[in-house]
Amino acid sequence: MAIRTIRTQEDPILRKTSRRVEVFDDRLCTLLDDMAETMYKAEGVGLAAVQVGVLRRVVVINTGEGLIELVNPEITETQGEQRVSEGCLSLPGQSGVTKRPATVKVKAQNRNGNWCLYKGEDLKARAFCHEIDHLDGILYIDRLAANETVELDK
Ligand code: ZN
Repeated sequence: MAIRTIRTQEDPILRKTSRRVEVFDDRLCTLLDDMAETMYKAEGVGLAAVQVGVLRRVVVINTGEGLIELVNPEITETQGEQRVSEGCLSLPGQSGVTKRPATVKVKAQNRNGNWCLYKGEDLKARAFCHEIDHLDGILYIDRLAANETVELDK
């Protein structure tokens, strides 16, 4: 496994749309392993492949309940609303209050290509939405709640 470089705000790749994964091979496994290691090193709760410069629809999340690997994820259902401060490993030193669903359901493939269903509330729901947004070039600063601005962390 290897730590990969996390791309930051000024890198135009963050605004690009990632392509679906069609081949479930060793390269995908290596990417997933490297992404998890990179996320843990950076002390984040989620990371999308585009953040390490790979335009594929691949996400890792760990909000404290174990590692979740999402390949070709799709949000299938949302409920409620939450407004909580959120940050991003690609936008270091900043945070902002976003408007997100309180609960989301997600379907995604695992590293073997099998479809799995996930449900997330609170932080986990935010992480699912935040990371899946990355796959379409969307950053949390595009999801700020009304009257909220990005603030520099102290
Ligand atoms: Zn992010």
